[in-house]
Amino acid sequence: MSCSSPLVDAFNRRISYLRLSVTDRCDLRCTYCMPEKMQFLPRKEVLSLEELHKLSLAMIARGITKIRLTGGEPLVRRDVIELIRALGRKLGDGLEELTLTTNGTQLAQYADDIAAAGVKRINVSLDTMDPVLFERLSRRDRLGQVLQGIAAAREAGLKVKLNTVALKGLNEAEIPFLVEWAHANGHELTLIEVMPLGEIEGERVDHYLPLTAVRDGLEARWTLTDSDHRSGGPARYADVAETGGRVGFITPLTNNFCASCNRIRVTATGELYACLGGAEKVDLRAALRSDAPDANLAAALDEAMRIKPERHHFRIERGLEPAQPRHMSLTGG
Ligand code: SAM
Ligand code: SF4
Repeated sequence: MSCSSPLVDAFNRRISYLRLSVTDRCDLRCTYCMPEKMQFLPRKEVLSLEELHKLSLAMIARGITKIRLTGGEPLVRRDVIELIRALGRKLGDGLEELTLTTNGTQLAQYADDIAAAGVKRINVSLDTMDPVLFERLSRRDRLGQVLQGIAAAREAGLKVKLNTVALKGLNEAEIPFLVEWAHANGHELTLIEVMPLGEIEGERVDHYLPLTAVRDGLEARWTLTDSDHRSGGPARYADVAETGGRVGFITPLTNNFCASCNRIRVTATGELYACLGGAEKVDLRAALRSDAPDANLAAALDEAMRIKPERHHFRIERGLEPAQPRHMSLTGG
């Protein structure tokens, strides 16, 4: 296939959304995401700025219209702003949306630059507004920085969507308050079920909270109406009459969302994972570092379309190994 034919997989799904991890490193250690003593990759294994840019341009030429930068924490990579600026120049020229998912700790410093590059919306992860629980969940005392970051992003004109992992016995009771706070401050909030990716200390199943139960709790308090709103991702939304805002639900475990999958993920080392919950992958770094990078990149992308599985097979049960040994911080959330 040519370097410009659209990316369509074996199940006739058109792939238009790239989630690109720019680093596996992070300044937090969220307990459901990684262990305290997480082993990070040697820097030479991580794609250079030029490689990330070249790969993104090749993807845009094949019909990727939305790129989300993620990690690890994308804003701990020092040259990430240069990448954001370079990709920002493709907006309106093949790329329709450039965005990022961040933990917010560095946002106060970068919000203006991010907005100036043409980014309109970002996702910030916020699991709690309680500083003690924040420190317990992330193993770092940074809630104040995150809230400052969110405020700075708003001031810079960025639309901020909040992502909250629902955790039984941890932030469970606080979820209605988080929704209320988000809506009062003009943010949408999306709830996420914890996914079995990578070894952590302790058992994820202890804190697995099905969103069906969370929704029941919200409905006991407020009037939720299913919304047709779609963000190009797996979330399903409901409008909350009393708060005037919208809540998203990402339910990989209770409700499979694979039929409409439009995405691929690339790790910071250039491995393209065809599915978040699968092992199918192709090595884009080898293609990029080969003698014929353009042809080899095109061939690798064709191969990715051939192997993308129909659906993931997540299960979360006591004693069961993670569905995939790699952490979310490697593949990018
Ligand atoms: N560091 C950034 C952040 O936290 O937003 C970006 C990367 S992080 C891996 C992306 C998202 O994945 C975050 O919202 C985080 O809460 C979520 N996440 C991490 N590990 C997860 C897991 N095992 N199950 C579900 N969500 C997870
Ligand atoms: Fe870092 Fe994000 Fe993982 Fe938390 S969820 S440890 S902020 S990568």
